[in-house]
Amino acid sequence: MELTNNLAEVNQRINIAAKKASRSVDEITLITVTKTFPTSDIENLYQLGLRDFGENRDQEASKKVTNLPKDIRWHFQGQIQSNKLKSITSWASCIHSVDQLRYAQLISQLIGDAKMPIFIQVSLDKTSKNRAGVEPDELIKMATQVSELPGISMQGLMAVAPLDMAAELAFANLAKIREVFLTSFPTAKSLSIGMSGDYETAIEYGATHIRIGSSILGNRASIA
Ligand SMILES: *Cc1c(COP(=O)(O)O)cnc(C)c1O
Repeated sequence: MELTNNLAEVNQRINIAAKKASRSVDEITLITVTKTFPTSDIENLYQLGLRDFGENRDQEASKKVTNLPKDIRWHFQGQIQSNKLKSITSWASCIHSVDQLRYAQLISQLIGDAKMPIFIQVSLDKTSKNRAGVEPDELIKMATQVSELPGISMQGLMAVAPLDMAAELAFANLAKIREVFLTSFPTAKSLSIGMSGDYETAIEYGATHIRIGSSILGNRASIA
C-alpha cells in the first residue's frame, strides 16, 4: 500500500537525519498533515500507529475530528482567525501558529482551567510583510506577555521556511533567534519546523516537531 511505503520511507529518512545530527528520534514528533485528505486516509494512518495529525482549517478539521478516534492528537497549524478560535480550542491538542498576542489571550480565555500548548510562529521572511509569523525583533516582547497568560503553555517556536530562501539559511537564522529566546524562556524548548521538502534540514537544526503532508499522503489537489 502506498501510505505504508511512504511512511516507511519518511521514517527511515528521519532516522538517518537524526543519526547524522547525533540526535535521538525519540525527541522528534512526526505530525502528519492531513489537510485536504479524507478521513479514510487518517483511519489508515491511525491503523499504522500514527496519533499526531495536523490541520490548517477549522471548518475542515472540526468535521473530520468527530468521526475519528478520540486518542488522536490534533495540531492546528493554519492561519488563525479570532472567530474560529472557540471551535479550534475545542478539538486541537496544540496550536502551532500563534503569531499575535490577542490570539493567545483569546485562547487563554477559552480554555478555562486547562492550559493549551502553543508555539509562537516566527516570520523568517525578509521581503514580504504579509506572511504569517511575528517579526523576530518583536518576539521576546510577545513571548513575555504570552508566557504570563494562565491558559497557555508556551512550548517553543514554529516557522515555515520562505519559498525564496534555502531552508539551510532560514533554519540557521531561526537557530540564532531561538538561542536568544531560550535565554529568556529556557523551558520552551520545542521547535516546530520542517515540511516534506526540508524536514531533514530541520532535524539538523533541532526540530522537535516536523509537519509532513505530501511525502506521506501524496500531492494535494489544492493548497490549504
Ligand atoms: C501544508 C503544511 C505543511 C505540510 O506541507 P507538505 O509540504 O505537504 O509536507 C506543514 N506545515 C504547514 C504550516 C502547512 O501549511
